[in-house]
Amino acid sequence: MQHMPDDPTLLPAPWWVPDGGMHDFELELHRELPHGHPLHGVKATAVARCEGCDDVLFSVANQPFPWAVVHLTWTGREERAPWPMTTPLASLAELLTEWADHGCNDGAASSESRS
Ligand SMILES: [Zn+2]
Repeated sequence: MQHMPDDPTLLPAPWWVPDGGMHDFELELHRELPHGHPLHGVKATAVARCEGCDDVLFSVANQPFPWAVVHLTWTGREERAPWPMTTPLASLAELLTEWADHGCNDGAASSESRS
C-alpha cells in the first residue's frame, strides 16, 4: 500500500504546487485559526492546493496526523471553530482515497491548460 511517496509534488491533479511557494497560505491560516482549533499553535507548512476548490494541503509537525487539508476562508481574521474547515490525514494515500471524489477531479482533469 506504500507505493505512494509522501511527496506532495507528486500528487495528481487537481492538486498542484504553485511555483512561487505557498507562504501566503501559511500566513492566512495563522490569521484564521481560533483557539481550540486542531491546528492552533501547530507548525503547518502549506505544500499543495486543489485547483478546483482552493483547499490547501498542509504538512503538520509534531501532531498525530502528518497532513491536513484546510479550506481557508480568506477573511483575513480569526474564524470561529470549526472554521477554517480542516481534515486531518494520516498519509497522502489517504488524501487520494478520501478526497478522490471531493468534487474537483473531473473539472481539473479536463482543464489541461495550466502551463
Ligand atoms: Zn478541490
